[in-house]
Amino acid sequence: MPKHVKDLALSGKKVFVRTDYNVPLDATGHITDDFRIRSSLATIEFLLEQGAAIILASHLGRPKGTVVPEMSLAPVALRLAELVQAEVLFAPDCVGSEVERMASVLEPGQILLLENLRFHNAEEKNDPVFSKQLASLADVYVNDAFGTAHRAHASNVGMATHFSEKAAGFLLMQEINFLVKSIENPARPFTVVLGGSKISGKIDLLKRLADIADNILIGGGMAFTFLSAAPLNHNVGSSLVEEDRLQFAADVIDLCLAKGVNLVLPSDTIAARQISEDAQCLELPIRGLEDDLMGLDIGSRTIKSFEAILDDSKTVLWNGPMGVFEMTPFERGTRAIAKKLCSITEQGAITIVGGGDSAAALTKFGLDGCVTHTSTGGGASLELLSGIALPAFEALKGAK
Ligand code: AMP
Repeated sequence: MPKHVKDLALSGKKVFVRTDYNVPLDATGHITDDFRIRSSLATIEFLLEQGAAIILASHLGRPKGTVVPEMSLAPVALRLAELVQAEVLFAPDCVGSEVERMASVLEPGQILLLENLRFHNAEEKNDPVFSKQLASLADVYVNDAFGTAHRAHASNVGMATHFSEKAAGFLLMQEINFLVKSIENPARPFTVVLGGSKISGKIDLLKRLADIADNILIGGGMAFTFLSAAPLNHNVGSSLVEEDRLQFAADVIDLCLAKGVNLVLPSDTIAARQISEDAQCLELPIRGLEDDLMGLDIGSRTIKSFEAILDDSKTVLWNGPMGVFEMTPFERGTRAIAKKLCSITEQGAITIVGGGDSAAALTKFGLDGCVTHTSTGGGASLELLSGIALPAFEALKGAK
């Protein structure tokens, strides 16, 4: 394991912290969800208590190497200043002479937030010169950006090699501990709820889970590929089916049978002819889908059967919505699962939400904070849970 930031001597040091401030902004530049900023506070407050000067860096959006004013981190600096008891300065760039000047005069107890790292192509290319420039700003390196830990970029992999004093922050450590523990030694029954549009991206995870989970409940668009695959071969109308994943889905069904894993697929669905707020919806058994109907949420019978399994579960991992939860007609299944996770958490179950859309669903339904752990990283949590090493975490282990 890499060091924890708690294990470093920090008084009077300049500490570079790679955070994940990739927050959603509305058209007027207001932050619509500050979960990721709040999630960074444990490390920042600890560093302030220790008497460190803090340099924060993050990406926001996909500016692809150009300066896109709408993707500036300036609104994050303002929000952060409301949340911490410290002066927050904002740099006009993340490298260059002005940034070097601002970093050199930074005092213990002050925070300097750098401008969006991805305004430079060099960040995503893990460019060694750019890494060195970033590293020259500080004495100590801390990575607390779980959301990008599955990528090898300059600010989270390249620059780590320049420091002998480096560590994982509170958030990164907490994410790794929760997610790894959840899958390595879960309290049983261990139930996994998977949804979202596609199986692609969840292949390694499904293979691994078929070895570990007691129950796998599948909803969302991806359920229809399973329902269409052998041996079920259902006609699922116009629902989302990944033709090139049918064989994989059939293999997963076989594997679960062989391993005694209870794989549960939807028995009914909320169907419509179009994906819109005013769509005419029908609740139908899966077998009743006419050719022009799409299954866009799980139905009442499926909700009930998923809820009953969740009631008996001691550990639950949830990744992916049960339907097109962004729209009112198709949100009920996702809302029901979110609510059930909250109620079993109160009764002592460990419930882990794997970031991305499921985390957004909790926020939409006002259920933030009622599960044991909500990951700040969708892609990173999927890779970690699939057993793939995260390059940014590995980079913290090496010597200078
Ligand atoms: P993913 O990125 O694969 O996790 O998919 C997330 C997206 O899946 C969300 O935006 C949902 O709207 C969408 N989704 C969930 N269920 C369905 C469905 N039955 N049909 C089409 N899209 C769906």
